[in-house]
Amino acid sequence: MRRLAGGRLLVASHNAGKVEEIADLLSDLGIAVVAAADLGLPVPEETGTTFAENARLKAHAAARATGLPALADDSGLAVAALGGAPGVRTADWAETPAGRDFALAMRRTWEALEAAGAPEPRRAAFVCTLCLAWPEGSDELFEGRVEGRIVWPPRGDRGHGFDPIFLPDGHDVTFGEMDRWTKNRLSHRARAFARLRAACLD
Ligand code: IMP
Repeated sequence: MRRLAGGRLLVASHNAGKVEEIADLLSDLGIAVVAAADLGLPVPEETGTTFAENARLKAHAAARATGLPALADDSGLAVAALGGAPGVRTADWAETPAGRDFALAMRRTWEALEAAGAPEPRRAAFVCTLCLAWPEGSDELFEGRVEGRIVWPPRGDRGHGFDPIFLPDGHDVTFGEMDRWTKNRLSHRARAFARLRAACLD
């Protein structure tokens, strides 16, 4: 597997929060993180049907456009009783004409479970797939998952997205109630990053 030693890494995301989190995770490696938005790259359409396909298309578009190795993340919530939904459409469940509304997205998830008559526990996983793409076209994929269940009503006002309705296995507080440090050690993104680091960065 090809390794990245120093140099510049393009983070193929227009989400400032994600870029900051990724820069933080890589801060001890002497890698200069460049954000796609800072280079004026267009936002590619996420037309894939899996996290891996979407991570790949974002990473390759950015690597091709810049000649730099590029890292993309695609993530979301997969609810077992909903056949894995919202899955790759997780961010879309929050869309409203006035912007993203995650209180609404959480309610939609709960209503879909009620409509399906899903019994407790309502199993779910947060999934993150990272793709590191090289400018000449090869890539590496890394997945991280954290298993748990959906609770209702939402609990906690920390974190982001669907955190307040996700109770990870082995814990009695939701991601929305956890301090950032605890969540970022056990999250799907942290697990995918640990694999990426071991294989390509450390
Ligand atoms: P994308 O990867 O940018 O397509 O969007 C992923 C979506 O999944 C985000 O908008 C969040 O709603 C959700 N998501 C991903 N990771 C987390 C997390 O750690 N907590 C809560 N929601 C998340």
